[in-house]
Amino acid sequence: MSKTLFIDGEWTASSTGGSFDVLNPADGEIIGSAAEASTKDIDEAVAAARGALSAKEWRDITPAQRARILWRVADLIEANADELARLETLDQGQPLGVSRNLNIPGAAEHFRYFAGWCTKIEGATSPVSIPGAFHYTRREPVGVCALIIPWNFPFMTAAWKIAPALACGNTVIVKPAEQTPLTTVRLVEILTEAGIPAGVVNLVTGGPEAGRALTEHAGIDKVSFTGSTEVGKEIVRASSGNLKRVTLELGGKSPSIIARDADIDAAVQGNLMGNVFNSGQVCAAYSRFYVDSARVDEFAEKMATAAASLKMGPGLNPDTVLGPLNSAEHLARVESHVKRAVEAGAELRGGGSRAQGELANGYFFEPTIFTGVTDSMAVAREEIFGPVMPILSYDDADELVARANDSDFGLAAAIWTKDLNTAHEMAARIQAGTIYVNMLPAPDPAAPWGGYKSSGWGREMGPQAIEEYTELKGVWIGGLNL
Ligand code: NAD
Repeated sequence: MSKTLFIDGEWTASSTGGSFDVLNPADGEIIGSAAEASTKDIDEAVAAARGALSAKEWRDITPAQRARILWRVADLIEANADELARLETLDQGQPLGVSRNLNIPGAAEHFRYFAGWCTKIEGATSPVSIPGAFHYTRREPVGVCALIIPWNFPFMTAAWKIAPALACGNTVIVKPAEQTPLTTVRLVEILTEAGIPAGVVNLVTGGPEAGRALTEHAGIDKVSFTGSTEVGKEIVRASSGNLKRVTLELGGKSPSIIARDADIDAAVQGNLMGNVFNSGQVCAAYSRFYVDSARVDEFAEKMATAAASLKMGPGLNPDTVLGPLNSAEHLARVESHVKRAVEAGAELRGGGSRAQGELANGYFFEPTIFTGVTDSMAVAREEIFGPVMPILSYDDADELVARANDSDFGLAAAIWTKDLNTAHEMAARIQAGTIYVNMLPAPDPAAPWGGYKSSGWGREMGPQAIEEYTELKGVWIGGLNL
């Protein structure tokens, strides 16, 4: 029996006895199992979170005490970092260098950053004009938050949501993706060890059905979701029953612009890693490259050579740069995207196939480069979430901006140039939540993260996250000389 549900401080199995296997994407072997939460389990988790919201152990805790608990979570993550990184690599597939140096430490930094916020969540006095009246604002917890996590960076994404939610005094129900539940189970153990009271953090493992039950639930006040745009739209519809608050971090198709004056070698390195990092399974991955027509051949040739030299293998191998995709279904999806690009007439300049030989049992796909791509091809428009790099060329800046913005997505964009004017002009004109100039698409807890258009609603990280996890209350005192 898989006891991976954590409800009101107790680890339990599913009330129906249902469970599912968890696989290692590097070889398809079963590495664990998790409970399939039923509607009854979810009702219980919601009741536990609701009860904990008003229980004195959480409601009366001081901001300084909350801060200390969150800081302790960060310390415990660091103390267990080697074990957590290995588990994340086994479950997600990412190279150990990514899990050990970025994912796990990044999660710890989120807890520290939001630990600092606990004692700094302020209201304001308002300069009202009603004679004799005084008005001030308070920021209060939204209430019970459902936090729904994808499979590409499970541990860190869980931290992006749990840390600010708790810093603001909410209670939470976390649902990791069905493909990658293992490190979230460990994170909940760590939260408990750090002193989070029973019922404040609850965990339900399961698939889309469990997600639906949460988003439709009248006992939930807010959903914070990271995942695909398609599911994001479903969540908006499902949440309308009680008009719960919804924040959405969704898909992307980030354009990367390589200007005529760019340092091409730096651009090749940055764009290659900006695409293949975590095997392309990054929402902000650079995934359509607009190169000045004077530099396009040089860029494509160097990208193809550099991509062919990347070491592909199981994430636990220390020299691996490119791990597997996360699941057989996702591998099939990436393969089908590549096939469609070839059929549409794009020119394959490297890669293009799933791995053969000793990697054939895992979900590996070669880094794949296309030239001769036109704006209307699906490879230039749809999110692939794999190591696929379509290269397009441009001649004119105005035309380029219109083409880069002709997308339903607007999560991130990159600009490679030595000219400050070009950098600032493009940064202002490209429609995206985050613009990177001459750098990789990295998140930081202090910088707001989120998308324009169909890439989402709201922002995570930074002071904006505090606004998203609180309600604003206005308080009037006296006035009107009654
Ligand atoms: P997904 O949308 O399929 O699943 C994400 C989560 O939602 C999982 O936990 C899943 O079980 C749950 N879910 C599925 N259907 C649901 C439903 N109907 N109601 C409620 N929950 C449901 O996404 P994925 O394939 O796991 O992740 C990849 C996607 O996530 C990509 O589109 C990627 O761009 C996006 N993503 C975005 C960000 C960001 O910050 N913007 C970060 C990482 C990933």
